[in-house]
Amino acid sequence: MVALRDYPNHVEPPDPVPDRRLTGVHWWDPDRLRHLADLPRHCPACGAELTGDGGISVEYWEADHRVYHTWCRSCGWTGDIIRVHRMIGHEPD
Ligand SMILES: [Zn+2]
Repeated sequence: MVALRDYPNHVEPPDPVPDRRLTGVHWWDPDRLRHLADLPRHCPACGAELTGDGGISVEYWEADHRVYHTWCRSCGWTGDIIRVHRMIGHEPD
């Protein structure tokens, strides 16, 4: 959870629509929740936590794939992370 104290220079913009609803259920909630569920939590190179100030993950899309371009503060690794739901491979002998 991000607190406003983490951004001391934050200035709340003026409300362009009076009585705008900022809380409650929104149409984008399912996508927002999927974003949070798929957000990478550990670096694939060193295993350090990426949450908080441990790194940055920015989401973008390629067709129906949700991709997280990620940077790890601990080891400096940068790359794309894609959640795999099904993988077909071979078994080593
Ligand atoms: Zn790392």
